[in-house]
Amino acid sequence: MKKYDVIVVGGGNGGLAAGAVLAKGGKNVLLIEKSHSPGGFATSFRRGRFEFDVSLHELNGFGRGKEALGGVRVLFDTIGISDKINWVDIPEAYRLISSDENGKIDAVMPFGIENYINKMEEYAPGSRKAAEYIFSCGQQNLRVLAQMGKCKNVFDQIKLLAANRDFLHNSSKSVNEVLSLLDMPQRARNIFKAYWAYLCADCDNLSFFHYLQMVNTYIELGSVIPFMRSLEMTNAMAEVISSNNGDILVNETVTEIVVENGAVKGVKTAGGKEFSADVVVCNASPHSAFSKLIKKEHIPEGDLKRCNFRTFSGSGFCVWLGLNKSAKELGLDNYSYFIFPDADDVKQFKLMGHPDTNRVQNTICPNAAFEGASPEGTSILSMTTLFNSFWWDNVPEEDYFRVKNEFASSMIDTFEKATGIKIREHIEEIEIASPETFARFTLNPHGTIYGYLGKKNDGVLARTLSENKRMSGIKGLYFAGGYGTKMNGYSSAMSTGFDAARHILRTGGKD
Ligand SMILES: Cc1cc2nc3c(=O)[nH]c(=O)nc-3n(C[C@H](O)[C@H](O)[C@H](O)COP(=O)(O)OP(=O)(O)OC[C@H]3O[C@@H](n4cnc5c(N)ncnc54)[C@H](O)[C@@H]3O)c2cc1C
Repeated sequence: MKKYDVIVVGGGNGGLAAGAVLAKGGKNVLLIEKSHSPGGFATSFRRGRFEFDVSLHELNGFGRGKEALGGVRVLFDTIGISDKINWVDIPEAYRLISSDENGKIDAVMPFGIENYINKMEEYAPGSRKAAEYIFSCGQQNLRVLAQMGKCKNVFDQIKLLAANRDFLHNSSKSVNEVLSLLDMPQRARNIFKAYWAYLCADCDNLSFFHYLQMVNTYIELGSVIPFMRSLEMTNAMAEVISSNNGDILVNETVTEIVVENGAVKGVKTAGGKEFSADVVVCNASPHSAFSKLIKKEHIPEGDLKRCNFRTFSGSGFCVWLGLNKSAKELGLDNYSYFIFPDADDVKQFKLMGHPDTNRVQNTICPNAAFEGASPEGTSILSMTTLFNSFWWDNVPEEDYFRVKNEFASSMIDTFEKATGIKIREHIEEIEIASPETFARFTLNPHGTIYGYLGKKNDGVLARTLSENKRMSGIKGLYFAGGYGTKMNGYSSAMSTGFDAARHILRTGGKD
């Protein structure tokens, strides 16, 4: 049986980041991926003359050319791939199309904190002071996060919190609780809350700290995508593992993480292979690990309790369209569209459980960022919504394709109605993925694409302060990915892999 320093189970963003940092740091790494290539959601597929990215709308936390380096930038600098990727800047933050009691909202919001606040004041006069306060809280969040880990004891922590009082006041509140305390026009609140759909949690539940952390990073640093989309990052991270003597085994599913006397010993695969290691980084969800990969008698009670306490976040539903006209010809001038029937996030979130009522969508047109996103004279639209229920698990097999197609059709209708742009007659290629597709593809329970739901009592802050670095009581077992402490998304998943790897390099995986 071959022995490795570290085995990584799953090659999604979290697994790849962990594997690359460990391999670069001199560890002998084996990454095992069930699919034909690593990436997880970070991959693409072809239909006809179009290449569609499965997931990446925008990468948060890279901060190209900015002094305040984002977390992904620090990771990519560490493994030496920042300059190997051809980056494309996303032109604007988002276009929100919705309505509130004052009528239709159609707001195109820019990147850059000052630009964003100025634009907000244009759309919602009287919002400036509150918006400035919100972004000053964003800066406090960053300061506290950066310094918390450096505190030597609890007194240092108290001093830090005392110096950042707004953080202290707001970090345990929901987005709506904080906004309700501000003198801010309702329209400005609605525009500010547009990103809630990314996190699949309404603003009564969503932690202000977590939400602001995300918005602040987007608006301050801007966002990017690689020219060859997510696959360019996936390949670059995989290449770091291979070129540093790591092994990547694809088309192989891990069936057991072997645990003896409370510590990991290695893994077994569906293909009958066995590998030994004292450290395993699991990129599969804790739910998958504890229900399928680790024998029941070895699972600490605390690990099970944490799993049972958590709720799954949204399951993904996507429609990818290859259109036979250019973005310019069709009038697809914006990159990212948030479309909500109305701006009441609590109401809309409730309606997201069923296809008859879910009319929320985030749609991107990559051609609005760079023309080469598809062949000349064509364009791509990539539409995503989330289901906060397990409705799709119960669709009878004989109805599956009909309901999937009907719901996809309703998403196209919603887009056409909201933007006034006719796209249906220009569809050359179409592909649809339901939560069942995502479940089969990545083994994520119920096709969840966003890990565990981020709530104010189970958000980034609560998880970071309460979890040990490994997120498990089993010695040598680490978790990395969208189910981790940093919540979901590319940068979050990568960041948990980065954290796990740094901890392993520092401690040898023994703490
Ligand atoms: C449609 C869509 C749009 C999105 N848009 C964005 C966006 O614009 N920006 C953003 O930041 N995030 C976005 N996300 C979210 C982002 O893609 C995910 O949060 C992130 O990629 C999750 O990474 P992960 O490390 O958790 O791994 P996953 O992508 O979940 O991958 C896990 C990997 O582990 C493998 N695996 C699981 N079990 C086993 C096993 N037993 N043996 C071997 N291999 C196993 C799976 O095959 C898979 O490859 C989007 C997601 C989707 C689906």
